[in-house]
Amino acid sequence: MNCDVLVVGASSAGLMAAISAAQSGADVILVDRAPAGIGPEHAANTLFLGMATASGIEIEDCYLKNELEGMQIISPSGKAVKISSRGFFLDRQRFDEHYRSLAQSCGVAIFSGTVKEAKLQGSRRVVCLDQCQEDDSGARIDARIVVDASGVSSSLARLAGLQPMLHREDIAWAMEADIELKDLGKEKFFQYWIGSMAPGWKATFSPAGGDRATLGVFVRGHGENVQSFFRSFLKRFKAYKAARYPDIESLKIHSIRRGGDPIAVLPGEIVADSLMVTGGAAGQSGLAYSMRAGCICGLVAAEASKKLDVSKKSLSRYEKLWKKEFYWQYRMGRASLETLADMKDREIDVLVANLSAKNLISGGSFVKKAAYASVVVALSRPRTLIDLAANLMRG
Ligand SMILES: Cc1cc2nc3c(=O)[nH]c(=O)nc-3n(C[C@H](O)[C@H](O)[C@H](O)COP(=O)(O)OP(=O)(O)OC[C@H]3O[C@@H](n4cnc5c(N)ncnc54)[C@H](O)[C@@H]3O)c2cc1C
Repeated sequence: MNCDVLVVGASSAGLMAAISAAQSGADVILVDRAPAGIGPEHAANTLFLGMATASGIEIEDCYLKNELEGMQIISPSGKAVKISSRGFFLDRQRFDEHYRSLAQSCGVAIFSGTVKEAKLQGSRRVVCLDQCQEDDSGARIDARIVVDASGVSSSLARLAGLQPMLHREDIAWAMEADIELKDLGKEKFFQYWIGSMAPGWKATFSPAGGDRATLGVFVRGHGENVQSFFRSFLKRFKAYKAARYPDIESLKIHSIRRGGDPIAVLPGEIVADSLMVTGGAAGQSGLAYSMRAGCICGLVAAEASKKLDVSKKSLSRYEKLWKKEFYWQYRMGRASLETLADMKDREIDVLVANLSAKNLISGGSFVKKAAYASVVVALSRPRTLIDLAANLMRG
């Protein structure tokens, strides 16, 4: 098979890269290692309106499970601050189906298969699929451009000589469970716990509607197996919710997902001749932002293919456009997480207690709330701002 653009990985970044390239006139093939018709099971399911809007995503009823009113940040001793911000719990399977059928309606051909390497031959890349389906065996795809959207554990870009992530060692490894308890999913606030229960990032509770929710830990600096953090967070969570749910001990755990979240990683080398890297594989974390990154990537791929110039120089327009929109947000995010990682539990308690004394839930724009919160942070622990500046300079 031949095509202009071959996208590897049919999750948030890859689906958007394929759609955007096809809508810009390219002939596109999308492959994923998950068997055809079943679709891969993807972890991300919670999205806030601000990020969705900034990424050009319109939320559709067909995949909505629960609407959230905001988030609550909870300190190690249980102090909490509420922030109003409209959010959504998605039925991830339906979300993916929605974007897969959008891709197909734009002319994208979707196949199942595992891509191990994308070899450069002349100015094109050749990929052999290690098939999941017997009747598809032996497929070879010859593409002008390969887009690697195969997630944080991708090795395609690295095999092609790129280092697509800076601070790869800082991927937060996660374990997340679907849980069930009567009415637990009817809550309206997403909850972030910060502190030593999930060093370097967060533990989360996301209400999915009805009796369902997800519970997870995202940990940096402790390897990929974070089960011990999950177990002790589960205990803490049950104690925290016991007053509201007397039958909390009957909480059931269903499926469990594990994976990496590149939240504190920065994109590194994300283009080479005839190759582009997007989404988690490029350290562009988050459901909404990986979709926007995929969208920019697909657009530039289609334009380069049309001009018959798929050199690194031509494709680096993707890197420029992405940096213009996102670079400082990611850099600020990393610096904030590095600062948080250095704080002791009791310092986080004081900070959250001071923030909760101010009314962050209602009134004022997000920018006003953020400015107000910064003043409270500075007054509670002046060193925070100095640490933040130092971490920001470090990059
Ligand atoms: C447990 C967990 C929960 C998360 N929850 C949220 C959340 O609620 N909200 C949020 O914003 N972010 C969340 N994140 C972060 C988010 O998942 C990612 O940053 C982002 O969605 C990554 O999307 P992606 O398209 O780059 O890659 P992925 O979603 O990782 O998808 C990669 C795709 O590539 C395919 N693939 C991999 N290798 C190959 C290969 N060799 N050949 C062919 N196909 C291949 C896989 O089957 C998969 O479909 C979470 C992360 C984790 C680990």
